[in-house]
Amino acid sequence: MNIKDLLSISDTWGSPIYVYDAEKISSQYKRLSNAFSKVPSLKINYAMKALSNISILKLMRKLGAGLDTVSIQEVKLGLKAGFTPEQIIFTPNGVSMDEIEEATLLGVQLNIDNLSFLEQFGSKYPNIPVCIRINPHVMAGGNSNISVGHIDSKFGISIHQIPHILRIVENTKMHINGIHMHTGSDILDIDVFLYASEILFDTAKHFKELQFIDFGSGFKVPYKEGDIQTNIEELGERLSSRFLEFCKDYGRDLTLAFEPGKFLVSEAGYFLVKVNVIKQTTSTVFAGVDSGFNHLIRPMFYGATHKIENISNPEGKKRFYSVVGYICETDTFASNRQISEITEGDILCFYNAGAYCYTMASNYNSRLRPAEVLWINGEAKLIRKAETFEDLLHNQIEIEL
Ligand SMILES: *Cc1c(COP(=O)(O)O)cnc(C)c1O
Repeated sequence: MNIKDLLSISDTWGSPIYVYDAEKISSQYKRLSNAFSKVPSLKINYAMKALSNISILKLMRKLGAGLDTVSIQEVKLGLKAGFTPEQIIFTPNGVSMDEIEEATLLGVQLNIDNLSFLEQFGSKYPNIPVCIRINPHVMAGGNSNISVGHIDSKFGISIHQIPHILRIVENTKMHINGIHMHTGSDILDIDVFLYASEILFDTAKHFKELQFIDFGSGFKVPYKEGDIQTNIEELGERLSSRFLEFCKDYGRDLTLAFEPGKFLVSEAGYFLVKVNVIKQTTSTVFAGVDSGFNHLIRPMFYGATHKIENISNPEGKKRFYSVVGYICETDTFASNRQISEITEGDILCFYNAGAYCYTMASNYNSRLRPAEVLWINGEAKLIRKAETFEDLLHNQIEIEL
């Protein structure tokens, strides 16, 4: 996948458009599984909220992944993509008991993250084994919006409540087949992650019927130059040997599970936009593009830096630009960014546009969501059409006034 391929895709289907490189997804998948090759039973459950197009899900299934889901709709999409219920884990937070029961009846593995539902579920379905989401209170990430392990976090059951968990399990005679943690979205420091893992191992000892331990995700990938990325190989080496040691103590081989989203798809994604206007002001040069936070919200929502390249003029002289969207609100993709000289009509490419980009898109300003293309075996395949004006009105009801 190179600049020429990207340009031909925007020629064929127009802009804005999302493009995903299947080869990159598959190499990331292999990199992760190779790092843990010493573990006899490894399960990589793709966190589909990162990118949930059905063709991407089918690709994941082909690679051998399971699925991590957070809503009943994600569960149904996963089943539709051909995953068996056993390959799907449902890790909801704050959803209703009805939704949990619906997912359970579909046969997926349930991961419970509060004591109230643990007790209700255990009382009603003591024979359906469940996983428990533990909050080890370890802050793995740097950004407080995406660190979910801290003491006031809404995620998981606190490790300080283990006696209460054990009481519920004993009273209801329910079965716990897995324990899980997901500490945050960025593993910056392997030592911190391993420290959280020790807490999980300590917790695991209390449960005698475990089949798996799920270490969540948080694998960090580079977005801009100089970014730290999780050293997967080192993590694999160190966690694998610790895990095997734990299994020996535990007396049985368990499955080691992960649920990466960003790691598998972020770098595989490209978002192509066209420059509508170059506007000089007293302080800067704006490049206004045919998109906005309705299509890519991470820079505005998380302060994320996505590398931007002018693929229409890659060798051009570097100049400073503020790249902004067409939404009637401040929607700055990048300020004071050095990009090869831009002319109106040029195509800009946003990198790392695979994870949490399309899935967070909206119709704000009554704009249409873009098309998606999968680049696979040297060919571009349309995997989602761009929305049309009719889609905007699809569920609206025009009443007589
Ligand atoms: C979002 C999420 C993930 C994936 O996180 P990434 O940072 O994209 O790898 C994994 N597990 C759970 C429970 C999640 O909510």
